[in-house]
Amino acid sequence: MQRYSISRILAGAIVIALPVLSSTVSARQVDETPSNPTAEHGRRYDRLLIRNVYVIDGNGTPTRGPVNVVVENDRIVSVGGRSSGDFDAEIDGEGRYLLPGFINLHVHLQDSRGNMPMPFQYQMNLWLASGITTVRDVGSDFEKAERLKRQSDRGSLVAPRIFIYMRAGGGTPEEARQSVRAVHEAGADGVKIFGMDRAPLAALLDEAKKLGLRVAHHVGVEESDVWDDIAGGTTTIEHWYGIPDAAIPYGSQSFPPDYNYNNEVDRFRWAGRLFRDADPEKLSLVLQGMADAGVAWCPTLTIYEASRDVQRARTQPWFEDYLHPALEQYFTPDLGSHGSYFLGWTTKDEIEWSRNYQIWFAALREFAERGGIICAGEDAGFIYRLYGFGYIRELELQQEAGFHPLDVIRHATGNNALMLGMEDELGRVKAGYRADLILVNGNPQENFKLLYPTGTDVYEDGAVRPGGTVEWTIKDGFCYRGAVLMEEVREMVTEARHSSGGR
Ligand SMILES: [Zn+2]
Repeated sequence: MQRYSISRILAGAIVIALPVLSSTVSARQVDETPSNPTAEHGRRYDRLLIRNVYVIDGNGTPTRGPVNVVVENDRIVSVGGRSSGDFDAEIDGEGRYLLPGFINLHVHLQDSRGNMPMPFQYQMNLWLASGITTVRDVGSDFEKAERLKRQSDRGSLVAPRIFIYMRAGGGTPEEARQSVRAVHEAGADGVKIFGMDRAPLAALLDEAKKLGLRVAHHVGVEESDVWDDIAGGTTTIEHWYGIPDAAIPYGSQSFPPDYNYNNEVDRFRWAGRLFRDADPEKLSLVLQGMADAGVAWCPTLTIYEASRDVQRARTQPWFEDYLHPALEQYFTPDLGSHGSYFLGWTTKDEIEWSRNYQIWFAALREFAERGGIICAGEDAGFIYRLYGFGYIRELELQQEAGFHPLDVIRHATGNNALMLGMEDELGRVKAGYRADLILVNGNPQENFKLLYPTGTDVYEDGAVRPGGTVEWTIKDGFCYRGAVLMEEVREMVTEARHSSGGR
């Protein structure tokens, strides 16, 4: 309580000095709102003031500010207007950037990896501390996911809001239709599909359209490819398979005779040679077809990066304090764990994957230029990817693909909200929208690394200092401090390492 009265005294001193300042610096806007108690971790307020902040919106428009932003309960009520009256709490935005909360369009809710338990709260804290206020779950235990979703909506769980896309499929058209009806009856938000033949896929997409369900498709190397998604109206293509496949000059990729799809070393090794086999002209037709049909692309560039640089993937600096032992065990190369295929991974494999990335980057840019919608998701919990950190890496990789940081932020917020059908509620810093906001210490357009929960170094005036982090993540008006969330993660990891007999 003492510090609030000190800040009031300080504010008073500033007010006394103002007449002198304003006569000399007339351009500077004077914020005369009296200071209020600082917001507390885990609380929501009837009236919250975020003071003097730069705003980056989720629609690709440039930065503006400094402005005041007012949140009442779970809603943003004003951005940049006059903010008079009393507030229950405030957050100082001086020199900081306010963005819409990130939407992570590709996650799996996980409470164990391998055979080792791992608390859901570990994932939730990492996501929130990385600025993620919404996740789309595309495959997990439905009943557990439902429970978490309800708790998150009520505000009784510290977690992003959750959309559940439930798995459907089927070997025949009738089975496929029935599985979509089951998803609808269960009350899921959408459908996730994987590995389908052409006829059942067409039936499934038709049934989903009738029921008004959105569909996320992880295309495998299978009978169908993205032309079938274009014909049937799939909402999002997950990852990238199915796109170069649709542009191969004729038939199959140039697999060697001993290739076996069920061997993950084979599968991921040859995936890294897939874009190479696509015909550029055919690829352009595929990308235009997707754009015209409104089939969006959630590339999850981040989840394949280990394939082009496995040493970087294994030695990420935040593993030391924040890698849960269940994940550590799961990431250890083993053909029994999906995505842990680094058994005899070669220089040649990494070179092929680097080339694959270059063609993939160019295809993403071309898709966007042709009017396609690009989204952002991470798929962490596999292939050396840690929740949240993996998502920030996705933003970096989208910038590497050639997108302006403002467009990358739009992909992560406004575009993702559109894919969820939530474009009037989420993905903007705008009056009337849900109070899902993040306050970044620094300007993420300069350096996306500022968004990592461990921050990054900043070089200024000849000296290096620690910088960055998402200081505050606000979800539904609840205010969470990044540093507190990460301290809890550290404790969960330390405890799990003790009980598993590790370090
Ligand atoms: Zn996935």
